[in-house]
Amino acid sequence: MKFNELGLAPELLSTIERSGFEEATPIQAQTIPLMLQGKDVIGQAQTGTGKTAAFGLPILQMIDTTDRNVQALVISPTRELAVQTQEELYKLGADKHVKVQAVYGGADIRRQIRGLADHPQIVVGTPGRLLDHLNRHTLKLANLKTLVLDEADEMLDMGFIEDIENIVKSAPETRQTLLFSATMPAPIMRLTDTFMHEPVTVKIKSKELTADTVDQYYVRSKDFEKFDIMTRLFDVQSPELTLIFGRTKRRVDELTRGLKARGYRAEGIHGDLTQQKRMSVLRQFKAGELDFLVATDVAARGLDISGVTHVYNYDIPQDPDSYVHRIGRTGRAGKSGVSVTFVTPNEVGYLRTIEDLTKKRMMPLKPPTAKEAFLGQVSTGLETIKAQIEADDFDKYEPMAEGLLEQFTPLQLVSAYLKAVSPDDAATVPVKITPERPLPHRGGYARNNGGHGNGGYRGGDRRSNDRRGGNREGKRQFDKSRRYSEKRSERSNAKTSFKKHKD
Ligand code: ADP
Ligand code: MG
Repeated sequence: MKFNELGLAPELLSTIERSGFEEATPIQAQTIPLMLQGKDVIGQAQTGTGKTAAFGLPILQMIDTTDRNVQALVISPTRELAVQTQEELYKLGADKHVKVQAVYGGADIRRQIRGLADHPQIVVGTPGRLLDHLNRHTLKLANLKTLVLDEADEMLDMGFIEDIENIVKSAPETRQTLLFSATMPAPIMRLTDTFMHEPVTVKIKSKELTADTVDQYYVRSKDFEKFDIMTRLFDVQSPELTLIFGRTKRRVDELTRGLKARGYRAEGIHGDLTQQKRMSVLRQFKAGELDFLVATDVAARGLDISGVTHVYNYDIPQDPDSYVHRIGRTGRAGKSGVSVTFVTPNEVGYLRTIEDLTKKRMMPLKPPTAKEAFLGQVSTGLETIKAQIEADDFDKYEPMAEGLLEQFTPLQLVSAYLKAVSPDDAATVPVKITPERPLPHRGGYARNNGGHGNGGYRGGDRRSNDRRGGNREGKRQFDKSRRYSEKRSERSNAKTSFKKHKD
């Protein structure tokens, strides 16, 4: 569907055109006309389907620029998302000169107060900080026309429902309400019952999302082999903009350190980093100053990162929906993408569960041999050489080159140059990654590799992997509680640090 068939004003069509959007996504095509008719809409769609513009464009269209009150409020689960949404709305509203202010915890509240005093027509914020501003009367919602709850299920998981209820109470009953969520658990359904008026549901099936434009591979390997295999794959696959997912914060930190040690431009994000650090890493990645972004699921959720060529699931996700989220970051906008998922022998059941959901088989990928990796490195070097020759800017160098040709054979010179411009064999820098316990065993796979009671196998000691014994049931419970507490702590961190910064 073309944007100009959706009833949008010319001052929006111009910014849409500048953003490079050619066609409306399915959720946009369905949501925009409904919102323009004044309907409440429940939008159910995964990350990356263009929900921001789906609600943002009609909001921008309906904004009265002569009215100095806050007319639209978007509630976002995280600071990053709030900022991202603010930026997108600002960009799309530029020709209409709409002011959009973001407010979130962990940032100077006085600056936000000044921003709010400058009469933005749209405010985007995280729940706690929004409440804070409401209590200080630095934000008034008496004239609000449109309220958006973005990523509602995420806000539920983060424990924000009560805050949201309190915010909604400050908005007039007559408002239009939009709710976006990838899933619709019962508490969210209740919200829609209490806060929405005869809402229309727009549901985009996940099937349309598991992009056929992503070539999905898996590699079977032991945990301790993954890192070397991955960097060899880099040599062969030459990824450009790359996302790597790790299961835990420690994983993310260690992978990032390991990649840097091997000369890759990599940074990591997870819930323990400061807000500033996460934002600056994301900015660098988006600007192409980094080639590799390592992340946990929680840190990456909902973030809009485009142009990703490769996604490496260093750890297979436990939850098949996470897989869809992860690989949905590549293969966008008609471009093709590649995903590679590492599977330890114990985790094959998870692979099958994912394939059942996506209705697509992943293709097995063999770890590249040293020779294949070498050929990959050299071909990168060759590209550099060819580009240099095409640039043909050698005048300064030719006298010296002639001297060298008298001293050495052409074969020696060319080999030396090729070596110099090819990336090093990554495996020459040893990197040790602390083994993670594999996910608890899941049905459909007969072998039992339990018994890592001693902390799992270490650096190359294959025997301990085969050692039997240990209480499998006990281990399973241990894994479970540990994983949950990890997830919880990442989330509650987001919340506590937010509370802490409440000034
Ligand atoms: P979601 O909220 O569903 O996760 P976003 O609104 O963050 O998705 O959009 C994801 C990316 O797609 C953004 O970079 C956005 O600019 C881009 N985008 C949105 N709509 C379109 C479109 N119609 N065509 C191309 N790109 C789009
Ligand atoms: Mg979004």
